[in-house]
Amino acid sequence: MGWNIKVDAGKCTGDGACKDACPVDVYEVKDGKAVPVNADECLGCESCVEACEVNAITVTEE
Ligand code: SF4
Repeated sequence: MGWNIKVDAGKCTGDGACKDACPVDVYEVKDGKAVPVNADECLGCESCVEACEVNAITVTEE
């Protein structure tokens, strides 16, 4: 069981708010977009979802 992270690249501004908010360093910002490179580490806390000002991120249980 894990967490499925989706970043809407059309909304993402690449400001890195999710990267700063995530306690386990799931995100990197690549080419101006947030990418969940360590999705396997996700705790499902939704801190990234709350931090994102443009609501680009959804986290759902797999
Ligand atoms: S839900 Fe929590 S642990 Fe998972 S990517 Fe977002 S901030 Fe990180």
